[in-house]
Amino acid sequence: MLDIQAFDQINPPARLLMGPGPINADPRVLRAMSSQLIGQYDPAMTEYMNQTMALYRALYKTNNEWTFLIDGTSRAGIEAMLVSAIRPGDKVLVPVFGRFGDLLCEIARRCRAEVHTISVPWGEVFDPQMVEDAIITIKPRALLTVQGDTSTTMLQPLAELGEICRRHDVLFYTDATASFGGNPMEVDAWGLDAVSAGLQKCLGGPSGSSPVTLSDRFADVVRNRKHVEQGIRNATHQDGCDEIIYSNYFDLGMIMDYWGPERLNHHTEATSMLFGARECARIILQEGIDTCIARHKLHGDALLAGIQGMGLKPFGDLKHKMNNVLGVYIPENVHGEQIRQTLLNDFGIEIGTSFGPLHGKIWRIGTMGYNARKDTVLMTLSALEAVLNRFSFKTAQGAALQAAWDVYASAEI
Ligand SMILES: *Cc1c(COP(=O)(O)O)cnc(C)c1O
Repeated sequence: MLDIQAFDQINPPARLLMGPGPINADPRVLRAMSSQLIGQYDPAMTEYMNQTMALYRALYKTNNEWTFLIDGTSRAGIEAMLVSAIRPGDKVLVPVFGRFGDLLCEIARRCRAEVHTISVPWGEVFDPQMVEDAIITIKPRALLTVQGDTSTTMLQPLAELGEICRRHDVLFYTDATASFGGNPMEVDAWGLDAVSAGLQKCLGGPSGSSPVTLSDRFADVVRNRKHVEQGIRNATHQDGCDEIIYSNYFDLGMIMDYWGPERLNHHTEATSMLFGARECARIILQEGIDTCIARHKLHGDALLAGIQGMGLKPFGDLKHKMNNVLGVYIPENVHGEQIRQTLLNDFGIEIGTSFGPLHGKIWRIGTMGYNARKDTVLMTLSALEAVLNRFSFKTAQGAALQAAWDVYASAEI
């Protein structure tokens, strides 16, 4: 028999989440999420949906009508985009500079695309010319990119790729989950056709909702595929089966009919997540999107200065680092996991480990969303310095904080 007395009320330990995501949610977002539910066709609810679309248009800097939420984590947004646009046999090009490029390849292969990749070593990004050369050789239907890859902390410049894609008539998608809200994102100015993101990085919310935006061109591509009312029931392999979107949940055509004026029933909107996503956008727009990006840059710079101040080496090409995550080489003779565990156990601070070729080589420290603040940066630096000194890596004690303070002081001038 299940002993229900053994299951306490949820009461997680107090943690300061300074890894590559998730991070502590802004208390305003948590408050919005604890609001009571309403019916999915209540006029108040449909008005909240419309407001959420308007808020994310502003955040994405786009006039795209089709700017809305996919219910699910960031991966749900990625999957909805790819499943809805890519037909079996379509050629896609994926520039891979970290783990999330591999994820795009994997999902595209499940869509039975012909996947072509180019790659650079982890810690670098692509020169636009390299992408254009590959587009000319491969002639893909879509270019699938990652803007900020948390596995390497690098930010791929996208500004020039849109124009290249237009010239060669290629659909241009990016996964902006890690970067959105903390680094520039200009959907219309950069000519992006489709972007997806998540709340748990710079947007300061929990994971579970994926804000997406689609250009009219991308929406047309989706609309031109087959949806249920156009005859999935009768479709056979002989008759355009490849045109069918093989997912109901992620069929963007049906989701657009749900968010659009038709309000055709699809899923039940995840109301509490929508309340949270709406508040994430409202917080950033009240601060000012450019101010919010500048805040991420300031605290990212202060963290970097502090890390260098204590004699640690940052990872990758710093010119192309995201504002909100820093890779830090684990010094020789230091047990990376012992440091992380001591930070967690004795200070309640979580920093990130890493994957693949960087496993055991670097830590990843994030300063994003609600946690992109002076107090969190200074606390993390002082705790890390103390723990390193406890375990045989000697630093000039206090140097980290002084270096970070210098960044803050010069920013105030
Ligand atoms: C963190 C991250 C994700 C996360 O996806 P989830 O489904 O929310 O776990 C996706 N893409 C990128 C680039 C990320 O950095």
